[in-house]
Amino acid sequence: MDLDSLIKNAKIVIPKNGIINGAIGIKGEKIALISSDHGFHGADEVIDAKGNYVFPGVIEPHVHFGLGSKLDQDFITETRSAATGGVTTVITYYRQNDPYDDILGEIKTMGEERSCIDFSIHLGISSEEHIHNIPKYADEFGVTSFKFLMAYKGEDAKKMGSAEMTDGLFYDALLKIKDLKGVIPCIHAENIELIWNIRKKILDQGRTDPPAWPDSRPDFTESEYVRRALFLAELTDCPLYIVHLSTKKALEEARKVSKRYPKVYVETCPVYLTHTRDSMKDNILKVAPPVRSQEDNEALWEGIRDGSIQTVGSDHLALKRKSKEGTIWEASMGISGTSTVLPILLSEGYHKRGISLERIAEVASYNSAKIFNLYPQKGTISIGSDADLTIVDLEKEKRVSHEMLNSASDFSVYEDWWVKGWPILTIVRGSVIMKEGEILGKEGFGKYLRRDAK
Ligand SMILES: [Zn+2]
Repeated sequence: MDLDSLIKNAKIVIPKNGIINGAIGIKGEKIALISSDHGFHGADEVIDAKGNYVFPGVIEPHVHFGLGSKLDQDFITETRSAATGGVTTVITYYRQNDPYDDILGEIKTMGEERSCIDFSIHLGISSEEHIHNIPKYADEFGVTSFKFLMAYKGEDAKKMGSAEMTDGLFYDALLKIKDLKGVIPCIHAENIELIWNIRKKILDQGRTDPPAWPDSRPDFTESEYVRRALFLAELTDCPLYIVHLSTKKALEEARKVSKRYPKVYVETCPVYLTHTRDSMKDNILKVAPPVRSQEDNEALWEGIRDGSIQTVGSDHLALKRKSKEGTIWEASMGISGTSTVLPILLSEGYHKRGISLERIAEVASYNSAKIFNLYPQKGTISIGSDADLTIVDLEKEKRVSHEMLNSASDFSVYEDWWVKGWPILTIVRGSVIMKEGEILGKEGFGKYLRRDAK
């Protein structure tokens, strides 16, 4: 076979299939050969994987380009950072109060001129008009996932410049979406009315210490809303994707429902697997939902192990350290993290907790591709799929500094952590875009991924 390139001496991690020793052949932008011999095939270029593992390119399902800094800048810097971490596709959230008709083409063009990896868009829903337009956004623009920010109401919504989402509108949206095959609602599930009440008491005590933040949003404020949202999803027979789930209690709610109603999908973020309330020495770790306890960390790892958590995304914002100044109440919310998703899964998951590499490939790539209609173009290693591949050196240990992550964000919650297991080569549609931490990908190489409801 006439191949453009060949990756030989590879341990190929194929989700749901296992690990094969062999070679991968690439022709054009696609995978053209998967062979269990070590690669005596003719190819213009040969990449020796030297016995390292080859994963399907990481799909990061949860980033916010344009929220921590400017959208046009983020498409450049944050896709480079993503490539550093073995990410080959990002799905970014975009939200405004006006309808999206005029802006989607612009975002697509902006991304295609700047991004070095492939990208897609989730849209935030914040009005009746948005809900009405969901079928159009799916048909015309190929957007099949819509986010509902239930934790931003009243003053909190105003501060974010956002219209409010109510339970009533959320219910209407579920009724709309349930008949659209392949379309999925994504929910930020926290009960903000409970949080307001608790926060008021904490503010009255005059607390400004960093742990006052998690104390104002206790675990039941998440699990209560997860229970409510799943109740409505099951009632309307609509699938539901829970973003950044952070607690053992909420995971138990999801698990309970998913036993009888399988259209439940759960995402968590690395920070909820690795950090706790007690590690909040400063404002850096201000995120919503907040970081919890070690018991929660371990329960979420267990969720990854047993399959009740389907995806891991980072909720990435390219924030600056400066935005974290002031009291915990004044500091901005959010952290960067796309480039460390896979390294943390390998270091903390595989090495420390024995989570299998196949499972890591599922939560880091395959499941997002399935849930968000990118499969089998993305999310697996199979003949005809895009040649999006991440070669990982499982034994490579590096001490994290934000500089090496190539993000515009000038901090990482893993700063100074020793992390074992790093991507050493990132390939998008057959082209090497990251080698040993160096970005070779060019602005404008990335393509917008239209997702079709099917
Ligand atoms: Zn988010």
